[in-house]
Amino acid sequence: MKIGILAVQGAFIEHEKMLSTLGVSHFEIRQPKDISTSFDGLILPGGESTVMGKLLHELNLFLPLKEAILNDVPVFGTCAGLILLSQTLTNSTTTHFGTLPVSTKRNAYGRQLGSFQTTQHFERIGQVPMTFIRAPYIEEVSDGVDILATVDHHIVAVQYKKQLATAFHPELTSNTSVHEYFLSMI
Ligand code: GLN
Repeated sequence: MKIGILAVQGAFIEHEKMLSTLGVSHFEIRQPKDISTSFDGLILPGGESTVMGKLLHELNLFLPLKEAILNDVPVFGTCAGLILLSQTLTNSTTTHFGTLPVSTKRNAYGRQLGSFQTTQHFERIGQVPMTFIRAPYIEEVSDGVDILATVDHHIVAVQYKKQLATAFHPELTSNTSVHEYFLSMI
């Protein structure tokens, strides 16, 4: 198994460490030649979604990665990664891959309250520590989207077919369970 991690901006190194801990081989995606051979899963890290979206186009990664997601290569987006996947952004006119049929609000907790930690139930896993940093949350999901976790009635983790997305950063804790769940989807 080989996982590609988008590494143009943001918290990609933390995902690399997580996969190393789990003994799963991985590589960084920075340019089209990095994805010229096949891979079994894709991680879109946290960071700044506007910057990442711009870089994806500038580096000619947008179309090949969108095609991979549409071809059901399993993808895991965390925080800004969730924003990149969302079909609709309720407080922004820009969308990115738009392959995940949910409406997501960027910086949903406000700038001051945007960063916090909590431990909550995650469907199919159990209790999971969750780190939120200027996080979005999901306001609406379409039919077929499974809601996997909520915090204060806000949706913070979903799965739709082979797309998994969290508003929080599991890679910033030592708990590997969400990554293991993603790997089980492959
Ligand atoms: N607020 C960021 C954005 O809108 C996401 C924050 C994060 O990934 N930690 O892209």
